[in-house]
Amino acid sequence: MHEIGDKGVFVKEIEQELLEKRVDIGVHSMKDMPPKPAEGLMFTKAWEREDPRDVLILREEQSFSDLPGGAVIGTGSRRREVQLKKLRPDIKVVNIRGNIDTRIRKMNEEGLDGIVLAAAGLHRLGMQDRIACYLEAGEMISAPAQGVLALEIRKGEKELLQMLDALGDDETANAVEAERGFLQEIDGDCHVPVGAVCERNKDGVFSLKAMFGDEEGRRQAYAFVSGSEPRELAKRAAVIIRRQMAGMVSLVGAGPGDPGLITVKGLHAIQEADCIVYDRLASPDLLAEAKLGCEKIYVGKESHHHTLPQEEINRLLVRKSMQYEKTVRLKGGDAYVFGRGGEECLFLRECGVPFEVIPGITSAVAGPAYAGIPITHRGKSLGFHVVTAHDKNDALADIDFHALANGTETCVFLMGLSKTGEIAERLMDEGMSPQTDAAVISCATTPSQKTCISDLMHISEDARRAGLVSPALIVVGEVVSLRDELNFFEQRPLFGKKYLIPKIGEQPTMLRGLLLAQGAGVDEIQVGQIMQMQTDFADGVLDADWLVFTSKNGVESFFEAFLKRGGDLRSLAGVKIAAIGAKTAQFLQQCGLRADLTPDEFHSSALADCLRAQLTGGEKVVYLRAKNADDHLRRNLEDVCRFTEIAVYENQPIKPDLASFCPIENYDGVLFTCASSAGRLLETLGDAWEKAKAVYSIGPRTTAYLKKHGVKEVCQAECATYEGLVDAVVTSETL
Ligand code: SAH
Repeated sequence: MHEIGDKGVFVKEIEQELLEKRVDIGVHSMKDMPPKPAEGLMFTKAWEREDPRDVLILREEQSFSDLPGGAVIGTGSRRREVQLKKLRPDIKVVNIRGNIDTRIRKMNEEGLDGIVLAAAGLHRLGMQDRIACYLEAGEMISAPAQGVLALEIRKGEKELLQMLDALGDDETANAVEAERGFLQEIDGDCHVPVGAVCERNKDGVFSLKAMFGDEEGRRQAYAFVSGSEPRELAKRAAVIIRRQMAGMVSLVGAGPGDPGLITVKGLHAIQEADCIVYDRLASPDLLAEAKLGCEKIYVGKESHHHTLPQEEINRLLVRKSMQYEKTVRLKGGDAYVFGRGGEECLFLRECGVPFEVIPGITSAVAGPAYAGIPITHRGKSLGFHVVTAHDKNDALADIDFHALANGTETCVFLMGLSKTGEIAERLMDEGMSPQTDAAVISCATTPSQKTCISDLMHISEDARRAGLVSPALIVVGEVVSLRDELNFFEQRPLFGKKYLIPKIGEQPTMLRGLLLAQGAGVDEIQVGQIMQMQTDFADGVLDADWLVFTSKNGVESFFEAFLKRGGDLRSLAGVKIAAIGAKTAQFLQQCGLRADLTPDEFHSSALADCLRAQLTGGEKVVYLRAKNADDHLRRNLEDVCRFTEIAVYENQPIKPDLASFCPIENYDGVLFTCASSAGRLLETLGDAWEKAKAVYSIGPRTTAYLKKHGVKEVCQAECATYEGLVDAVVTSETL
């Protein structure tokens, strides 16, 4: 059993008996108990403790310092292990488990030079004569509350509590408070080494020695503090430890919604983070930037529904800082604009955790801009107020409406949608003209942005009718009138439209980026994944006259396999290369190979025609393809060359998870970039397929597939590229 946190089997079983009232008092070793007792249970005041020290039992009669270098000591505890190594870097520590007898037996049987145990256990069993030496707190800090019995009872058992408490020992109780207080403060899990031991000297001053180490055993920190308040000591020791051990917490402003609106510095922080703690307003695209293995924790706040209370978020950040080198706290807009970033930073500081703030673009400024409203404008507004409409108790905040109503500055209200009417009324009461321009902007800077323009008198009613939803901003002031001319965002060709793209792999597609740039909303549904094939094809390609690539995946998988098997690009010097399109050619170039042939039109018939024109007969043409690719190229080329195919990757089907997508008829269209994804989506949708509003295809082969499977109307790109496909959508939507 580990020393802390990890409740041993016995602990759980005893607690269960207690809760089911089969027993009234549970007796444990306090050092085995997690930082907090189980729900409904409590510990009584501690009785006088046994010796808190750790001791060494040695196989041969000698002292610890006489042990030769390379001596082997057994322990099951990380805490003992790291401290032993600090005392004697020259000895070896091995893992040993079991009760005292088992360990002593193992020591003898396995020829260990010694083992470390708790003095208390040996004393209680009358085995003190086995002890070779006691390790003092200056050498080895014991587990918190080592040597203390834990008496656990049900909460509310007053009489029992009184009886047991009467036997309690003040000295021990104080020590337990300091030692276990430290354990709670430092909040480590059972995998990390933690130690704490508190003593009182002759003058009545407590001194607490504490240690904490990382999971890998690479770093440890120690704290020695003294004072008169055990709990206070625990806190101070934890701060001293965190100052040495805690990683950086970066509060990063995620921007208002458009994932492009993040700072370069913020993006770097996300990419390097070991852990990201984020809320509702942070865009999923930004999370996709995180590195592999980054822990992502959602602590989102929806209005009236706080997923995690602020205090818990604060503590979570501190805990994660002890676990990771880099933690990012990602917050919508700017962390300090009504984001409670200040509170989080104050708490981190208090706990001794280093932090930094990477400001973000606040929705208060970016939202109006994306709605065509400059927040200041010469002659119309000399400045702006950004105010929150809600106070702590969800009532209208105590805003100086008189000042707002009588100034010439633009007023921006956050968190105010449900209070739009009240706000307008208060402004008018204080003398603002009912004809003053006003706007409500919902989901600003995202494809779902909606703006309602009105005047102060009618804004509340109009916004309600327009069905605007949270998050939303209210903007009041003359600058609103500039929207007619400055509304760039909502006027992009595909604004307000939404498309579905079946995709292969997890990464967002380039096609999606192109559609977003035109203002569209995009959902992607994964229908496949790329698996590289373990083929050994080195010989097959070295004597080829042509290598043919029809996708970026083909290039990528080829190079992976080629280089992994010790291939050398120079051996391809005499080989010509054909690429189906510009993107494939571009990717080849990045890998250090220039394509000799790229057809003008990017589809396999064009590629076959082009290649045919170059072949004189008998050349060896090697097609590096997907395992399940069709035989179109083969059929078109095998009569004029020695056509060889090597499957370098497989496009494996994934059953699309339709549940997370709204019904197909809610999309303005579905876009297909290959026949295989078309097949998989058609199959999943079944008859619902007929409700699709529009179907777009990248080229003739995908179109042919769709038609063959009963899709009547397909709009095909003129040029078989992603850009061509988006052009087809724009053309058909703006006709
Ligand atoms: N720190 C954030 C604000 C957090 S308070 C920032 O700097 O933007 C939350 C409020 O911000 C919401 O109630 C809403 O008024 C506003 N808000 C945030 N993102 C928004 C968006 N994309 N569109 C409209 N309002 C938004």
